[in-house]
Amino acid sequence: MSPDVPRILFADQLGPHFVEDQRVIIPEVLGPFRRRRYHRQKAHLILSALRHRAAEMGSTAELRRGETYHEVLSGVDASIVNPTSWGLRALVQDLEAGAAVEVLPSRGFVASEEEFGKWAGTQSTRLLMENFYRHQRRETGILMAPGMNGEPEPEGGRFNFDHDNREAPPKGQETLGVAAPWYPTEDEIDQEVREYLDALEDSGDVSFLGADGPRLFPATRAEALDALEHFVTTRLATFGPHEDAAMQGDWAMSHSLLSPALNLGLLDPREVLERVEASYHQGAVDLASAEGFIRQVMGWRDWVWHLYWHLGADFVDSNYLGHREELPTWWSELDSTDIRSRCVGHVLDEVRTRGWTHHINRLMVLGSFALQRGFNPRALNDWFVDAFVDGTPWVMPANVIGMSQYADGGVVATKPYTSGGAYLNTMTNYCGSCAFKPTVRVGEKACPMSAGYWNFLHTQADALRGNHRMSKPLGGLTRLSDLEHVLEQESSRSEY
Ligand SMILES: Cc1cc2nc3c(=O)[nH]c(=O)nc-3n(C[C@H](O)[C@H](O)[C@H](O)COP(=O)(O)OP(=O)(O)OC[C@H]3O[C@@H](n4cnc5c(N)ncnc54)[C@H](O)[C@@H]3O)c2cc1C
Repeated sequence: MSPDVPRILFADQLGPHFVEDQRVIIPEVLGPFRRRRYHRQKAHLILSALRHRAAEMGSTAELRRGETYHEVLSGVDASIVNPTSWGLRALVQDLEAGAAVEVLPSRGFVASEEEFGKWAGTQSTRLLMENFYRHQRRETGILMAPGMNGEPEPEGGRFNFDHDNREAPPKGQETLGVAAPWYPTEDEIDQEVREYLDALEDSGDVSFLGADGPRLFPATRAEALDALEHFVTTRLATFGPHEDAAMQGDWAMSHSLLSPALNLGLLDPREVLERVEASYHQGAVDLASAEGFIRQVMGWRDWVWHLYWHLGADFVDSNYLGHREELPTWWSELDSTDIRSRCVGHVLDEVRTRGWTHHINRLMVLGSFALQRGFNPRALNDWFVDAFVDGTPWVMPANVIGMSQYADGGVVATKPYTSGGAYLNTMTNYCGSCAFKPTVRVGEKACPMSAGYWNFLHTQADALRGNHRMSKPLGGLTRLSDLEHVLEQESSRSEY
């Protein structure tokens, strides 16, 4: 296709690796904001990033505003990097029917879809993230060293340092004590976006979730590179040990906060991996932290992306456990006012104030609570997409439907990720200031996570019995002297 043909850039294709030397069309459409209830800070981040990209490209960019993608893109001869959702790929097919549209292979991930397909075809047993990750390490050569027989071997002799990365929060501290995360400085484009979103809300046309607040995540390539550099030089060294811990006084812990920038396409995951690897080779960070982080990006992120396509468009509607509870209003509205359970209330409030909370809070607090309470998995999936600044359709099915809700019956995860309060009491500092006690299952102080855990196991025992990883927890049920009381209490519980 001639270089005069413009490239259409969607809102998650905003970095330099999505465009060659050519004109671009950047659609900014209002329809999705009307159809869904996005977190206000998510809407802000997306619009800010789109408008910054258009401003930075000057006369080579055309920002096209309208109600729908069809309205602003139909009939346009253009090239498109294959977009990231089933919905947008259907749109591209429609566009192809009415114009000369060249669709290029997707970008923004380490392995191409073709490479993943080839790898999946070589697997004789179930697809496992760990095997895919090792394959990726071999393919990219990242954290690989020359071995004795000339074959590359994993740096340090092992592919996985997970075992070194499971420390509880340090005692007697309110925070991890690491450097504060990188923060952007808002500019006039942010001001314009804020006024625009205020006007939309005032008109009653659109309603957002959560609180507005200063933008916390990169909206431009330059900001994303600054944020990456800041993370690598100040926080990566402590990433590993406390990766699985959570502290009330420390919303960011040692996490990178790079998921929004990666998912907007402002950073290419390969450059992130190379920067982290370089930091390890320079001796600035140890192997456990570098490997732990590299596994998140090259392993998990790529894994959930490829599973999104591999498992098909219907996967998101899986409901193996038959969970049908509607999300309670306090949950969907991010209103923790009446929630006395410290972990749930605190984490929900983090989502309200920032549209972001870290992995353990997503998985072992929000996801675990939702699973125990039988929330409808599809509704939960969509809520996560809307309520999180880094939420995208491709990232949720494997994480929410698979890993956190076990709604696929064990395709993505080998067992349900849920626990009683004892686990949270070890890996977080939430329980100390909670109205409930993790060791108490019945009565006024009964921890919703502990009682909810046993209630869940009992209710779903038949569905879980065939899973050998569940035999120990299910065996625990028979030893609970107060099980009847727990079940009776949880069957009518409405306060948490
Ligand atoms: C229920 C649930 C919901 C989630 N929702 C999202 C989401 O909306 N968007 C999102 O990008 N990630 C999501 N994740 C994965 C993970 O929690 C976030 O990527 C991470 O918390 C983002 O913060 P960070 O950038 O500081 O991550 P770090 O802890 O610094 O990790 C580095 C990077 O690794 C990648 N990563 C790590 N784990 C995963 C994973 N399981 N799936 C995909 N990428 C991963 C991310 O790009 C992340 O930026 C979800 C996980 C669960 C269990």
